[in-house]
Amino acid sequence: MKKISLLGATGSIGLQTIDILKAQKEAFQLVAVSSGRNIEATKQIIDDLQPQLVSVQDAEDARRLQQEYPHIEITYGAQGLVDVATHPETTMLVNAVLGSVGLESTLAAIRMGKTIAIANKETLVTAGHLVMAEARKYNAAILPVDSEHSALFQSMNGENPKNIERLILTASGGSFRDRSREELQHVTVKDALNHPNWSMGAKITIDSATMMNKGLEVIEAHVLFNMPYDKIDVLLHRESIIHSLVEYHDTSVIAQLGTPDMRVPIQYALSYPERLPLQGGQPLNLAQIGQLSFKEVDIERFKALKLAYEAGRAGGTMLTAMNAANEAAVSLFLQEKITFVQIEELIERVMHAHNNVLLPDLETILHVDNETRKIVLDMVK
Ligand code: NDP
Ligand code: MG
Repeated sequence: MKKISLLGATGSIGLQTIDILKAQKEAFQLVAVSSGRNIEATKQIIDDLQPQLVSVQDAEDARRLQQEYPHIEITYGAQGLVDVATHPETTMLVNAVLGSVGLESTLAAIRMGKTIAIANKETLVTAGHLVMAEARKYNAAILPVDSEHSALFQSMNGENPKNIERLILTASGGSFRDRSREELQHVTVKDALNHPNWSMGAKITIDSATMMNKGLEVIEAHVLFNMPYDKIDVLLHRESIIHSLVEYHDTSVIAQLGTPDMRVPIQYALSYPERLPLQGGQPLNLAQIGQLSFKEVDIERFKALKLAYEAGRAGGTMLTAMNAANEAAVSLFLQEKITFVQIEELIERVMHAHNNVLLPDLETILHVDNETRKIVLDMVK
């Protein structure tokens, strides 16, 4: 029985994780859990899985929940995330919170030697060098949940990493893959939220439409698998059936395939190194699909991807600045305060103005993250 802490339980990844935990009660036990402001969904999780510790975003929500559930420990805010991540009974943290708020709790869990199943890619982008150095120091395994990275991880199973020639991340192209740059000028939030292959949280759906999601994933792959950027490619693949590929020195390519269903990589991280049957999983029927398509990415068309490679190659706090600018800009777009193309413009302006600090410590990262969000707000005022 694996004992689990889960951050971001009420989100898209979080609720799919909850479904798996409910279906596999003999394999997993949810001990500690965090959510944000969705209190109804939080109560449902408490009723279904009876965790010992629950954290919500706001103090007032925590107070009310405590009255309703006097036998459970309820906490809140940034400290609440750390409390859930470091619960003494858990051996694995599933981090499915959104954005760089997940960083400190991840580091805290690593320092207790817990295994980290990480969906929260912003944490790896903003502070990848710190997370991986601490994971090595405390012997904490980091298991990918993101479908592409899970595919890469599965395609490397049993291979000597020295023999890897190249990582190839597949990309569906997002909601606007068939539109030109000119056509992007007037797209709406509703258009952008309409992803062709995956149902996901709002922020990552917008990131997929700008292709910043793939940019974040290139950086995530660099961090997780210690590969130079020149050896990480992106390939357009509309159907999202091949989730990513690893090319070896001898030109062999190993890939992982499956119907697009995030529960597959989530459950694989949870059950690793075992596999469990997936309740309601749809087996892949390639004969029915008939054809798969592939295309080179036009890096000028998808400017956010280009910016992400630039930030990755620069390293240091440039990554934090880029990520925070993206988080702030996407939030403004979702509030309809800026246009879709302004997301990229704001990130680019922030990056050009940023004074890069190489190998930053946690304090510097948190400072740059905070300041960048303010700079973005000032830019649109
Ligand atoms: P969602 O927006 O659906 O969920 C985010 C979760 O985090 C919710 O539980 C939310 O709480 C909580 N949350 C948000 N802000 C805070 C905060 N300040 N303090 C505490 N809790 C907070 O996101 P997704 O599930 O789509 O994505 C989560 C992560 O997984 C992201 O990093 C994303 O890039 C990554 N990912 C997602 C995929 C997907 O298919 N969705 C695929 C691959 C990676 P509440 O809703 O209660 O307010
Ligand atoms: Mg992905």
